[in-house]
Amino acid sequence: MNRPAETRRAPPGLEFLTTKKDEFVGWARKFSLFPYPFVTACCAMEFMSVSSTLYDTDRFGAALPRFSPRQSDLLMVVGTITHKQAPVLRRVYEQMCEPKWVIAFGACATSGGFYQNYAALAGIDKIIPVDLYIPGCPPRPETVIDGIMKLQDRIAADRHPIVTETF
Ligand code: SF4
Repeated sequence: MNRPAETRRAPPGLEFLTTKKDEFVGWARKFSLFPYPFVTACCAMEFMSVSSTLYDTDRFGAALPRFSPRQSDLLMVVGTITHKQAPVLRRVYEQMCEPKWVIAFGACATSGGFYQNYAALAGIDKIIPVDLYIPGCPPRPETVIDGIMKLQDRIAADRHPIVTETF
């Protein structure tokens, strides 16, 4: 049975521990991203470039692609998505475990790009939630790195409560 609201208080010290634990989990998640590259078109060249030694996304703990959605927490949609591919992308997203994040890499993934036709999806956010949009056709590697760092800031700031019930 729930106690009245005025008596619901966290035990002394638990709030401090929860805050520290949140910071630690956020920091660990921030530097242990496992991207799943869903690569369909010419943006792939920039994706390869940003993964190469010159730009080295390993510096950000985000360079180890996993080719199973069950082992990934960052879905990078790189290139044009057609209506035929949309259910496959949706399934890949659903197979990923929580917490998970999505990057729309380039103009096509973000909005359909210059494809104004019946075949191309006008942005992946029509079928899955997107956490970060990276503009450009294709985006420059520096833009991608800037986007990854912004997403990392958000991941680090996320809260991860160990106690979900109020006292
Ligand atoms: S945004 Fe430009 S480079 Fe990227 S997949 Fe679309 S057309 Fe190709």
